[in-house]
Amino acid sequence: MKQMSLKWKITLWYAGILFVMVGLLFCFLLSTSERMARSESTSRLEERVWDFVDEIELDDGEWELDDDVHFYESGVVFSLYDDEGRLVAGSVPQGFPEETTLKAYTFQQFSGRQGRWNVYDIAVPYGHGRTLWVRGIDDVETLTAMERIQRDLLLVICPLLAVVALTAGYMLTRRALLPAEEIRRTAEEIGESGDLSRRISADRAEGELRQLSDTFNQMFARLEESFEKERQFTSDASHELRTPLAVIRSEAEYALLPDVEAEEQREGLTVILEQTERMSALISHLLMLARADSGREKLTKEWVDLGAVAARAVEAVRPRAKEQNITLTLQRSGAGEAGAVPEQGTSPEIMVYADRESLCGALQNLIENAVQYGNAGGWVRVTVLESGETAVCKVEDNGIGIRKEHLSKIWNRFYRVDTVRGSEQGNSGLGLPIVKWIVEEHGGRIEVDSTFGQGSCFTVYLPVKCIDKCDEELI
Ligand code: ADP
Repeated sequence: MKQMSLKWKITLWYAGILFVMVGLLFCFLLSTSERMARSESTSRLEERVWDFVDEIELDDGEWELDDDVHFYESGVVFSLYDDEGRLVAGSVPQGFPEETTLKAYTFQQFSGRQGRWNVYDIAVPYGHGRTLWVRGIDDVETLTAMERIQRDLLLVICPLLAVVALTAGYMLTRRALLPAEEIRRTAEEIGESGDLSRRISADRAEGELRQLSDTFNQMFARLEESFEKERQFTSDASHELRTPLAVIRSEAEYALLPDVEAEEQREGLTVILEQTERMSALISHLLMLARADSGREKLTKEWVDLGAVAARAVEAVRPRAKEQNITLTLQRSGAGEAGAVPEQGTSPEIMVYADRESLCGALQNLIENAVQYGNAGGWVRVTVLESGETAVCKVEDNGIGIRKEHLSKIWNRFYRVDTVRGSEQGNSGLGLPIVKWIVEEHGGRIEVDSTFGQGSCFTVYLPVKCIDKCDEELI
């Protein structure tokens, strides 16, 4: 079923409330005017009856009326009764009940088939103990006629009011909701065209509707930015995957040519294997970033010694450092000799609450970069220390360094400063973004300081939980 539009809902509510209010007002006015009219009628009736009594002359034990006396005046009918209640002068309105009691100085109300009457009686004593009853009868119908007029008025006014209330309500609501309609239309158009660079112009909107359009525009801006990022990411990722695939294809095609020596085929297969490994590393990086973006990459944290994790990372890179004739050292605060990996228990542990594997991978990545972008015969120094509430791991090298203009961009996905050197090694520019994500997931931060031509220093800061030897003894 089609839902009623907001415009109509507001209009109906508005008109409904107006009706109820006006209805209540009319009821109140009606009952008040009726009450006032009744009290006016009774006091008028009493006054008329007394005026009539003044017209009666009492003489010699008898009563007498002037010839010009009127038994009907301004809607009041007068009648006179003797001691026995017999009508002796005047008349009663048509349909007035025959059997009624006479009650002096009291207002009574009688009704018959032809109407309702207010009655007021006065007992006039005369002669020797005799009484003449004077009765004034006022037709109540004159009152209800007024009520009828009011009711008829109400019947005319109500539909008129309904038309006015509905029309005015609809027009006002339409006017007030016009900016909302504009917002809806633009949002719909953006949705249909997919053009996220468009914005809602809500010049006429004020207050809440202006806030609504601003919120929509901010949302579109964020969506545009994230779609652009995703588009860039996808295009970079496909580009990165295409390169090794092209190499694999051409190597395979060459190896399949007739007259290719077995040795050449072997070389070709070696290249294919390398490229496959490169692709598989790239895909696992991409998957990790995708999981990180969607919040599905979960870290399993425990208390680990940062020094031990760094030592493991150093040992993993050591063969490669040796290959490139680079001296790789690890220095743990309090470990004594620089470069010596201390034996278990010879230096204070710097405990961090971390995912051991991810943290080790991040440090290994930094050390690998330091070796890769180092110079043959140079050095790479890894230092682990504690500074206040923070555990620090520095990876320094005296390699090629990074120019200032690249420093802020190296955290971007697929960003490589030295594309030739990086590509040769099969690097994709995803290493540092992953390292940054891991560090930040641990509540830490990473900074870089580098001088082009002299070397770089990457520093990881993590929140610390330090257990000294003495603490351990206490435990
Ligand atoms: P890659 O996989 O290309 O190494 P990274 O994200 O790890 O990607 O690094 C991004 C870029 O930062 C690298 O291409 C390189 O140019 C630069 N870089 C990273 N570490 C160092 C370093 N220790 N010395 C010099 N340049 C570095």
